[in-house]
Amino acid sequence: MRSIVTGGAGFLGSHLCDLLLKNGHDVICIDNLVTGNIRNIDHITSDRFTYLKHDVTKPIYFGDKIDYIFHLASPASPVDYLELPIQTLKVGALGTYNMLGLAKEQGARFLLASTSEVYGDPLVNPQPESYWGNVNPIGPRGVYDEAKRYAEAITMAYHNHHKVDTRIARIFNTYGPRMRAGDGRVVPNFINQALNNEDITVYGEGSQTRSFCYVSDLIEGIYRLMTVDFNEPVNIGNPTELSILGFANEIIKITNSSSAIVYRDLPVDDPKVRRPDISRAKKLLGWEPKISLEEGLKETIRYFRQL
Ligand code: NAD
Ligand code: UDP
Repeated sequence: MRSIVTGGAGFLGSHLCDLLLKNGHDVICIDNLVTGNIRNIDHITSDRFTYLKHDVTKPIYFGDKIDYIFHLASPASPVDYLELPIQTLKVGALGTYNMLGLAKEQGARFLLASTSEVYGDPLVNPQPESYWGNVNPIGPRGVYDEAKRYAEAITMAYHNHHKVDTRIARIFNTYGPRMRAGDGRVVPNFINQALNNEDITVYGEGSQTRSFCYVSDLIEGIYRLMTVDFNEPVNIGNPTELSILGFANEIIKITNSSSAIVYRDLPVDDPKVRRPDISRAKKLLGWEPKISLEEGLKETIRYFRQL
């Protein structure tokens, strides 16, 4: 089997490359390093692995047969996509278009890394795949949310019209080793603040909720989704929901930190709740997360300590 992973030098992409190599695939990692880092794939020595520095908003052709295309390329942290609004829209639109074109030409199976952000600031909790979402298209987060909604739409169009064999994974907040320390997401922020005994910056009152999935669980879910025959979106995430204030306290406890909690302005359109309904993934993939928050955070903290 030969697989392409776009965004393969990023946080999730690099773990997916590891799993594919472990499962015997030849892997081509395509990444322009806009938010990723070559260090994430430095440990890979396999001769079945190839890295190509390439921007997927530009077309690319392969002579050799490709079986699977995992399309993960996209800035993912709110801080990143607010700094890179046009690149984010382009990679969701043109990048997805190019990779679907490649899948069509190659007869390859295609998986889109979509997001819980397609649900926006959801009015139902937990979110099932049947929920259409509550997104502000012209708000600051619209560049990411709408890029992913477009990406889902074009993926379904290639499936329905061109009969490309597609998958859509709606990924919920995922954390673990190889997250970029400065990417601005809550997990690296809180862990680094706690490890340095600096103030922990809770945005708003910290009453907004998130549900955090450990990276190994997420990657296993993505891989299984690629191997079953199902074209509609599937939520992949951990349904254990907690408030951001509760999350800050958990990190202070695990790191045994003397950090204080300080409150900062809530970013515009920050979703108030987020929790996956994973009934579909359970039934279809026989999958559910195995790693507890405490276990996952300990691994992640170990990673950030040695940076
Ligand atoms: P990341 O920023 O670590 O990885 C994204 C990778 O894509 C980076 O290596 C970046 O350099 C690359 N990239 C961006 N634009 C590119 C382009 N035009 N051409 C080639 N490469 C490009 O982020 P991540 O957390 O690993 O996210 C990976 C994917 O999963 C993204 O599509 C993201 O939207 C999705 N996702 C992640 C989460 C999460 O919690 N981590 C949640 C929902 C969805
Ligand atoms: N957040 C926070 N402090 C930080 C970073 C983030 O309170 O230093 C909050 C943020 O407002 C959001 C949640 O944590 O409610 C998750 O933010 P993140 O950027 O990780 O991802 P999101 O789920 O919003 O895409």
